[in-house]
Amino acid sequence: MITFRDHSLVPRLGQGTWYLGEDPSREQQEIQALRAGIDGGMTLIDTAEMYGEGLAEELVGKAIRPYDREKLYLVSKVYPFNAGRNHIFQSCQRSLERLGTDYLDLYLLHWRGRVPLFETVQCMEELVKEGKIRAWGVSNFDVEDMEELFRLPQGSHCAVNQVLYHLGDRGVEYSLLPWLKGNGVMMMAYCPMAQGGTLRRGLLNSPALKQVAANHHLTACQALLAFTLQDTNVISIPRTGNREHALLNSQVAGVRFTPQEMELLNQAFPPPRCKMPLNMV
Ligand code: NAP
Repeated sequence: MITFRDHSLVPRLGQGTWYLGEDPSREQQEIQALRAGIDGGMTLIDTAEMYGEGLAEELVGKAIRPYDREKLYLVSKVYPFNAGRNHIFQSCQRSLERLGTDYLDLYLLHWRGRVPLFETVQCMEELVKEGKIRAWGVSNFDVEDMEELFRLPQGSHCAVNQVLYHLGDRGVEYSLLPWLKGNGVMMMAYCPMAQGGTLRRGLLNSPALKQVAANHHLTACQALLAFTLQDTNVISIPRTGNREHALLNSQVAGVRFTPQEMELLNQAFPPPRCKMPLNMV
């Protein structure tokens, strides 16, 4: 668990929802997976108006119905083209309705678009005042974007930057993660399991990863997930539509790698030695 600047206590291991809710024949299975995750302590759930054009939010709404809302931490995201005064309030309201709740814990700008950042920040602050959201943040922002954001009035209220991060794509470790740490912004790692290993060839078959996984009696996927949590400024949001995988993922929360294990992983997947452009999926 970590404490945000607004004093909310947030689990560092949560659940993603991209591609969930899109196939009616899988609905019950996916709801059971999300609930198994919640029961396993992954009470932070990340979704977006983009995912299935609202279908993922609806699925989350169904999955969380039996739970005490105050015990959950719900994150959603606004499309960049909806992140201005003309659309954001309606976008937020629609997300709330699909989720069946009257507030979001965190609302993120999904990526930078044409709406001036200044306007988005003002609207986010108004949503906080109205009680529709408790905090706001951004996604897919590199260091220069963060610096621009922090020069704006109230821009430093940004709580989170959600970015691509997994063992096979460590570019953010060079300057973005240190910048976020230095400025009190949490990093939320998306695709922490490299989309089941598919984003980097050979990742899941890496002898180094397999060795570290075996040391902790983990699967390679669990070890990938654990890697993203080694830095305490990182929140990780693996996605699964499979109950057994949700249980496996929830067991990773407390896993700590030794310096020797980190060195093994560093040799196989070296940390960046210079600034790399921020990747997106
Ligand atoms: P991911 O979490 O890295 O990987 C998901 C894949 O891993 C699924 O195919 C899943 O299949 C598999 N998986 C999960 N747990 C497993 C386990 N224990 N063993 C084996 N396979 C396992 O990829 P992601 O969904 O792209 O990223 C995570 C979340 O980040 C998203 O769902 C979304 O909420 C967020 N995201 C945000 C952005 C952004 O721009 N802000 C971009 C991408 C993603 P099964 O269903 O079969 O388990």
